[in-house]
Amino acid sequence: MALKLYNTAGAKLEPFVPLRDGHVGLYCCGPTVYNYAHIGNLRTYVFEDVLRRVLERNGYAVTHVMNVTDVGHLTDDSDEGEDKMLIGARERGMSVWEIAEFFTRAFFDDTEKLNVVSPTVVCRATEHIPDMIGLISRLEKRGLTYQAEGNVYFSIDAFPRYGELARLDRQELRAGARIEVDSAKRNPHDFVLWFTRGKFEHQAMQWDSPWGRGYPGWHLECSAMSMKYLGERFDIHCGGVDHVNVHHTNEIAQSEGATGKTWVNYWLHGEFLIMPSGRMGKSEGNMITLSTIEEEGYDPLDYRYFLFGAHYRTQLAFSVQALDAARSARASLIDQLRGLAARSADGARVELGHDARLALDAINDAFNDDLNAPKALGLLRAFLKDDAVPPGERLAVAFDADRVFGLEMATSVARHEELAPEYQAMIAEREAARKARDFARADLLRDRLRDAGILIEDTPTGTKWKFV
Ligand code: AMP
Ligand code: ZN
Repeated sequence: MALKLYNTAGAKLEPFVPLRDGHVGLYCCGPTVYNYAHIGNLRTYVFEDVLRRVLERNGYAVTHVMNVTDVGHLTDDSDEGEDKMLIGARERGMSVWEIAEFFTRAFFDDTEKLNVVSPTVVCRATEHIPDMIGLISRLEKRGLTYQAEGNVYFSIDAFPRYGELARLDRQELRAGARIEVDSAKRNPHDFVLWFTRGKFEHQAMQWDSPWGRGYPGWHLECSAMSMKYLGERFDIHCGGVDHVNVHHTNEIAQSEGATGKTWVNYWLHGEFLIMPSGRMGKSEGNMITLSTIEEEGYDPLDYRYFLFGAHYRTQLAFSVQALDAARSARASLIDQLRGLAARSADGARVELGHDARLALDAINDAFNDDLNAPKALGLLRAFLKDDAVPPGERLAVAFDADRVFGLEMATSVARHEELAPEYQAMIAEREAARKARDFARADLLRDRLRDAGILIEDTPTGTKWKFV
């Protein structure tokens, strides 16, 4: 089955056809680095990672660009509220530049632990101010901007296609149903391209511009940087669903306003990770980070496995029980694969037979059906139980599919084989000590293993280990 993707623009499933044969330009909105990413944000990056891996599996060379928002994002997506970077800096007693550096690193530590493939280009907003100024000048020349009270605004009434992505109602846009806060705006949906008015007196990040010293509006960076690295037209743009109505709508207005061309062909949006209290959010007071779940003894890949419990376009409810279930399921998968590895010829290259070929085709079809990773995982799990298929072939199918799942299946199997017998004996002895309630001995053995770089975890499905 050829690749099909659900396009928010047009709200339907469409066959994927790139602009340039064999090549895909992909832009994903990156993190605002004023705090740690929460596991909801990380859900979106894992969805984008699966997209990239599926594109590559289909033979495309992918240029994947992601921005890092280190300036200009206010607590409200539409120009209101406080500057997120300033809040972060104030709370932690650091400068905004230090905050940006610190949380950018933290973000990439998290995505690396989740086995998210690094973008081809990572671009920081603060390093692209001239590109953004250039874009405002283009919009200005096309009569799409106005200056008021020191700021430069995008005038949505000068751009008739405004709001098409989100199918915003023109009537409602004109009437300005939202509460008017910024009296300088001609239309309440107009948005700031360049701030100069001293909205934030302590704004540390400021640059000179033709409109005065100031800083860019948040939406501008994605238009400027994506076009810089991918060209004025490219294939796919992604983000979380919350970006449809404001951020992506405004990005389209800026980019298409400047070029007069269709900017992006496919818009993909990942649904939310939710908590009993609602959407997980940095400002909702319900955020959980990857470090928190690691401290609770989970492997980041347990979380990655958990994410395959729902299609990216459906909401996914987080709970400890659900994460436990994912951890057990991943452990049982690895056990199953180790069992198959033990029964298959060592290192031999496997030729897939008819049934294994069919299973792999069905898994690929699921991936190509709008990235249906949950279905693909279900198919794989069922296939692994098929005793009619030689173990080596089952293993080969799993490892092949894992190029999309990214669950490090081969590494987990190999690591088990690498564990020296003396350490296996220590693990067994520790288990026996625990059963005999000799916790002092068990702890001593655990510490010795730890000194040897082997981390022991007691899970509901038994003792697990991993190299640290
Ligand atoms: P931010 O760092 O706040 O700009 O968000 C980074 C990404 O995470 C964006 O693509 C958001 O749409 C996405 N996002 C925010 N909250 C959630 C959530 N609860 N579940 C999934 N994705 C989210
Ligand atoms: Zn963006």
